[in-house]
Amino acid sequence: MPTATSQPESPAAADRSAQGYVKSLRGKESGIDYPIEPRTICDTDFGPVEVTYDYAAMKGKVTRASIEAGPRSLWRYRDLLPISGEPRAGLRSGFTPLVRADRLAQHLGCKELYIKDDSANYPSFSYKDRVVSVAVTKAFEFGFDCVGCASTGNLAHSVAAHAAAAGMEAVVMVPHDLEAGKMAAMRVFGPRVVRIEGNYDDVNRLCSQIADKYNWAIVNVNLRPFYTEGAKTHGFEIAEQMGWRLPQHTVSPVAGGTILPKIYKAYKEFIELGLVEDNGAKMYGAQAQGCNPIVTALEEDAELFRPQKPDTIAKSIAIGNPADGYYVLKDIRESGGGGASATDDEIVAAMKLLAETEGIFTEPAGGTTLACAIKLIENGTIPKDESICVCITGNGLKTIEALDGQFDEAAAIPAKMKDFSALIDG
Ligand SMILES: *Cc1c(COP(=O)(O)O)cnc(C)c1O
Repeated sequence: MPTATSQPESPAAADRSAQGYVKSLRGKESGIDYPIEPRTICDTDFGPVEVTYDYAAMKGKVTRASIEAGPRSLWRYRDLLPISGEPRAGLRSGFTPLVRADRLAQHLGCKELYIKDDSANYPSFSYKDRVVSVAVTKAFEFGFDCVGCASTGNLAHSVAAHAAAAGMEAVVMVPHDLEAGKMAAMRVFGPRVVRIEGNYDDVNRLCSQIADKYNWAIVNVNLRPFYTEGAKTHGFEIAEQMGWRLPQHTVSPVAGGTILPKIYKAYKEFIELGLVEDNGAKMYGAQAQGCNPIVTALEEDAELFRPQKPDTIAKSIAIGNPADGYYVLKDIRESGGGGASATDDEIVAAMKLLAETEGIFTEPAGGTTLACAIKLIENGTIPKDESICVCITGNGLKTIEALDGQFDEAAAIPAKMKDFSALIDG
């Protein structure tokens, strides 16, 4: 790495073997261990595989101090991430602001409200920079020279940006009707873009076959177990930035179902390592009314969810058949949390409220999460006097069409003081 961008080693680095604290890839249901390799599922039950770590070996070595001494990026948590060499991507990703949202809290009548603001993530302004930083580093370690993804937009944007910075080829597969802002934002990095005539679930199905045929690192398919681990950093940061505490209530969007279970896993890992106290933190899933398979299953008290055909302005979370939906339901229930869904009008209203009270412009996914948090607070599911964190995962500048028709045309006047005064003074 060029010295200008390399980061200081954390004090725990000396204690790491080449593989760090990573133990294996383990079938989540089967318990079968596999070596660290590109892999999507367990061969015996076709269930997901997950990275396991040696937490006992971390104790006393991965500490608040060792983390605080790390870089101001998501790599400050590298001991809890599945890479073996130095980070190869995302040296400026993560460590986004945790905003104490007092003006919004006052509006909602609650006491301690935080916004975890990944609309400010780098370089592509969404939470996806976390998962892609880990996946692209892992693609390097496995010797791939081309990365790809199935995406609702933000993932493709992030993959394109990180691949460009790392000097890798990128091929991104997206639904044909992506927002114009997302399309332009990703194309500037020069990836090969393939628009698929179908929705995200069609794109994802095709990408599983593509991963079998081409020797590409499809970040959310054959690198999925490593990719998803990157999402833990959203949760680690919330805990560290709250002063090594967990919020009592965390409201997270649910699309494919990566981020919510990984925030919960992050909390549990910090508890296991003694870095935060176990306060019984509860998780809540937020979905758009037009694509809410998980919230519907919660409301019906069903063990499994039924896939849906999405119809919502919150396109980045419009996934009708979430890959990890089963685990979202499991974790929400285990934590004692819940869920809510928001209509398109409620989503836009929440986007405007967040902008007007906290100066944060999020996309419809963030509007969904805030709108659902408001419902959960107003219906008493989340008590107003307890600590609440709302996870804002994307930036509004990429989806300006969501605000079409929201504002009157701004006045245009001659460049004359008398016209200005006439306008202002009425
Ligand atoms: C991808 C995405 C999510 C959440 O997706 P999961 O698949 O559930 O992790 C949330 N918000 C935005 C803006 C996204 O791009």
